[in-house]
Amino acid sequence: MPVTQSGSQPLAILGGGPVGLTLALLLAKRSVASIVFDARTIEQARTDQRVLALSLGSLQTLRALVELPATALAPIRSVIVSSVGDFGRAVLDDDELGAETLGATIRYGDLVATLSAAAEANELITLRRPHKVVAVRQSPSSVEIEFENEQRISASLAISAEGFGHTGAASVSHAAVVADLELTGIGSDEAFERFTREGPLALLPLPSSTAATQRRALVWCMKTAEADRRIGLEDSAFIDELIAHFSENALRVVTLHARRRYPLHEQARDQLVEHRMVYLGNAAQTLHPVAGQGLNLGLRDGVALAEQIGFTHVEARDPVQALHRYAQSRRVDRAAIVALTRFAPAFFSTRFSPIALARSIGLTALAVVPKLRREFARLLMFGVRF
Ligand SMILES: Cc1cc2nc3c(=O)[nH]c(=O)nc-3n(C[C@H](O)[C@H](O)[C@H](O)COP(=O)(O)OP(=O)(O)OC[C@H]3O[C@@H](n4cnc5c(N)ncnc54)[C@H](O)[C@@H]3O)c2cc1C
Repeated sequence: MPVTQSGSQPLAILGGGPVGLTLALLLAKRSVASIVFDARTIEQARTDQRVLALSLGSLQTLRALVELPATALAPIRSVIVSSVGDFGRAVLDDDELGAETLGATIRYGDLVATLSAAAEANELITLRRPHKVVAVRQSPSSVEIEFENEQRISASLAISAEGFGHTGAASVSHAAVVADLELTGIGSDEAFERFTREGPLALLPLPSSTAATQRRALVWCMKTAEADRRIGLEDSAFIDELIAHFSENALRVVTLHARRRYPLHEQARDQLVEHRMVYLGNAAQTLHPVAGQGLNLGLRDGVALAEQIGFTHVEARDPVQALHRYAQSRRVDRAAIVALTRFAPAFFSTRFSPIALARSIGLTALAVVPKLRREFARLLMFGVRF
């Protein structure tokens, strides 16, 4: 296979999830070859049906690399942000922001399948799955990567895009209950971010809504024990508990499709670089899904890392020289989004009345101050930019 400019050793991407595959495609655009290893088969990855809200910035990044299947995408044109029991309600709207759309949703499995097909068709990318990494050993001039099947390769860099991976967390205190719903009583292309004292609850657009019913993906975060209880409820009881969290009187759930549960891991690495090993995406930071920021932030990691490696490639330098610049360039955006996703669920879950008042004032400010609303939406759509 083709090799990177730095010599005879390939550049290894550990993890072919959405971030690892996007990075491989971004590198290939800069004429940098890579090998991607993933522990799962593509069929296994396809079964992950979680719905991801892609920001406008992420859509632009992905559309420059692949053709996202139109039938798998649902546009998000407005997001209604509110909090149970608090006054104030803000609407982030694409017209007001002068954007074509705020973003779009796609299922994880559809996104990975599209990126995988593009990677397989690209002569600068070698994709190996299932190929599980079990160890990485570093020396001054290379890394040795060992796989479950006892094969080994030597590489110039080990780029970890393994997600939360094998960092070995024990039990997780919170989980998200997800399900597809058919609803009446809401506008088309509208998304909801509703904060409850138990945790945030999102309704995200899905493709194939009709004039009669709107299809939405539910992402409802709560303590793990509550999630287990709600997964076990009869459909009608689950729907009653869900509807009780909304103030929209006209809202009705017509159909509830299979519920699933995702454990909510959270971590953020202090150091993104360990000599020839570098982390991005969920391997760098695994976030609470509030406001749908994890993948969006991970894709921005990929853009920054590809750019820095691209510079070393053009100048025929060792790619290890790219890593500290990458880490430096990601400092502010990471810190802002990690802080937002940690702060928001705690801020909206407390019943302490001064904070409840601050919540209402914050939502009202967002509702009545267009500049604040635009800045907040830009942060969600593009992260922190200079
Ligand atoms: C319920 C839920 C809803 C979400 N909603 C949103 C949203 O709306 N918007 C958003 O931006 N984000 C959202 N996220 C977060 C988003 O899913 C993640 O940020 C994103 O999947 C991270 O991509 P990644 O490629 O870094 O990691 P992953 O998707 O975890 O992929 C990691 C890959 O590495 C592979 N791997 C792991 N270990 C090894 C190994 N040892 N060897 C080889 N391969 C390995 C895995 O098989 C996998 O393919 C949500 C998360 C959840 C749980």
